[in-house]
Amino acid sequence: MELPFAESYKIKMVEPLRKSTREEREEWIKAARYNLFNLKSEQVFIDLLTDSGTGAMSDRQWSQMMLGDESYAGASSYYKLKEAIRKITGFEYFLPTHQGRAAENVLFSALVKEGDLVPGNAHFDTTKGHIEFRKATAIDCTIDEAYDTTLEHPFKGNVDLNKLEKVFKENPAEKIPFIVLTITCNTAGGQPVSMQNIKDVHALAKKYGIKVLFDSARFAENAYFIKIREEGYRDKSIKEIVREMFQYADMMTMSSKKDAIVNMGGFIGMRDEELFRKASTFNIMFEGFITYGGMSGRDMNALAQGLDEGTEFDYLETRIKQVAYLGQRLRDFDIPVQVPFGGHAIFVNARKFLPHVPKEEFQAQTLAVELYLESGVRGVEIGTLLADRDPVTRENRFPELELLRLTIPRRVYTNNHMEYIAVALKNVYERREKITNGLKIVSEAPIMRHFTVELEKMD
Ligand SMILES: *Cc1c(COP(=O)(O)O)cnc(C)c1O
Repeated sequence: MELPFAESYKIKMVEPLRKSTREEREEWIKAARYNLFNLKSEQVFIDLLTDSGTGAMSDRQWSQMMLGDESYAGASSYYKLKEAIRKITGFEYFLPTHQGRAAENVLFSALVKEGDLVPGNAHFDTTKGHIEFRKATAIDCTIDEAYDTTLEHPFKGNVDLNKLEKVFKENPAEKIPFIVLTITCNTAGGQPVSMQNIKDVHALAKKYGIKVLFDSARFAENAYFIKIREEGYRDKSIKEIVREMFQYADMMTMSSKKDAIVNMGGFIGMRDEELFRKASTFNIMFEGFITYGGMSGRDMNALAQGLDEGTEFDYLETRIKQVAYLGQRLRDFDIPVQVPFGGHAIFVNARKFLPHVPKEEFQAQTLAVELYLESGVRGVEIGTLLADRDPVTRENRFPELELLRLTIPRRVYTNNHMEYIAVALKNVYERREKITNGLKIVSEAPIMRHFTVELEKMD
């Protein structure tokens, strides 16, 4: 008999979870104004809000914490991290930052100006925010297949080269500071970009004299998908694939809270010394001196170790198979989920799940609340609340996809937890016909409303 798959690590330290009753949850979610961001973490049994900074560090990472060098300038921890980044990504120059959006802030301060255009594959929201904040425009060039949740395509994060070339052709190169390639593409559902597409994007950009930036939060998960799904990569190690991927980038921004498995941190990688000097000035202003940039020495040490562990095949296989395990269990129950399964989360199609709730009553948020009431599981809405209002008309924007995201933290939960989540959602699915009333907004902020919005139940 073939041996079944099992996790590539064992557990040394545990953190108790608190179970609650349906009555308690009814009270708590009402007090939280039906906004799951307002819940206290003790009121949550399984927390699938995000995979950002929520991973479990290894014994080796914790031991590195003890060796942190907290010198203001020239700390050994800085050099340890510099060497890890050079070894894994190939970038000679780097700047530490406190998280991914800080890396964007520093780098874009050096490169993006008013009126610029920044093409890419479904820019992440903070990336788009930092582009638009500088009165520049983000242009989405993702392949159309990305927006069909039922279509099986191995690399839904890919860039449509025709869309990209159109941008390059119709605009002067001086107006395009770079193209940003997000690997994996978070906004499209944690979907990977193929090595072929990475090469093609790079070749096209070079033809027009444009720089290539990788938004790299989940670069290791992207490399895993290349190994598993792309012709010619099966026998290469993840680290070899990662090195090959980064050959096609001029620079990278990193949220280390994702694939580097630390709770806080980020960095910028660069090849060009002049850019490094320019960005260093902004780093000193916004983040801290160039040898710590918003991170403590111990955190840089844990990050250096995390980069190494995060690019090991056994770890990645455990992680991505766990996400797929949850996806498959939901599919077994006929629950409408996005396929193929992404690297970090399963996306439930709330429009198909709750067809009797009008779209004006926030279907995905209604589903998130129902799942919480059923089980204490906290997911997150990726739908109309997140899409916010049109800045000009102030009307609600109804996005193409209305999704509930179940984001899996790294090395935190077991497959029994996945089973619990799947059955909880199945129970909600079985009573979906009875769920006819959604939610309405009581108060909201003028921008980024989903974090603080207050809602009440429709009667
Ligand atoms: C999380 C993320 C960011 C922003 O990083 P933070 O560490 O949350 O500031 C940028 N891009 C992508 C693709 C991300 O997933």
